Amino acid sequence: MKYLFVCAHPDDLEFSCGNLMYYLTQHGKEVEILSLTRGEFGIFEPKWKGPRLAKIRTQELKKAAKINGIDNIQVHFGNIIDGFIRFTKKNVNLVISWIKKLKPDIIFAPEPYFTYYWHSDHISLGKILYYITTKLQNQLDKKIRSLYYYTTAKSNFSWPFNSANHSDKALYEHKSQMWLLKWAKLFYPLEKHNFKKRKLGNWKMVERYRRISFYDKQPKTNILMRGILGLISHLNIVNPPEPHFILPDMKTDFGQKVRKLRAKYNFKD
Ligand SMILES: [Zn+2]
Repeated sequence: MKYLFVCAHPDDLEFSCGNLMYYLTQHGKEVEILSLTRGEFGIFEPKWKGPRLAKIRTQELKKAAKINGIDNIQVHFGNIIDGFIRFTKKNVNLVISWIKKLKPDIIFAPEPYFTYYWHSDHISLGKILYYITTKLQNQLDKKIRSLYYYTTAKSNFSWPFNSANHSDKALYEHKSQMWLLKWAKLFYPLEKHNFKKRKLGNWKMVERYRRISFYDKQPKTNILMRGILGLISHLNIVNPPEPHFILPDMKTDFGQKVRKLRAKYNFKD
């Protein structure tokens, strides 16, 4: 059984799936990571944005993955520019080509529909994976057994654990993201709170996932909840396109690339 963890930015997985990834590698399972961007805009300091930060964050993900038992050669990058993941045919084909290459049985991706993390990159990526696994499985050489969404507000699968010590070690490899992670960490106990403690046994925390199986019957979802969260997930409320994608020097090669993308997606200059 092979597991593929797909993320939009280099630090997404350690916060949401670290404990499960570590368990899988420690039990001899094959685990691969595909980060669609290198997170080149994930900092406030303008002069760090771009290739410089991309390089740093590439290394940070590799180091973090290593702590979770995943080798550097199992960490892959899709090379879309941070902030520009869209649900387009081109990106669907890009992800399909990676799936064909890596041949996973089970895929993990960010929740697009019942999410509490409204970043447009995450939402688009989740939709891409949903589209591929529900509509385009006939294009794949090997059938995907199930898709698990992380950062979900509607979990039906909990992965229990007792201590965050190990996953913290991997998370804190993302040193360039500490400005964000130190705040996100405050919500960690809430996100990882074990609401189903009695059912599961005496575990302190859980990682929550929404599992969509392509073999079993689907669980029923509440229409009202689906409507409300679905509506919110279509709004880019926490990720306005300005001025995040502006660089101090737009004349560089990278700046030109960003300018073209901004024009393509109708962001005002
Ligand atoms: Zn992210």
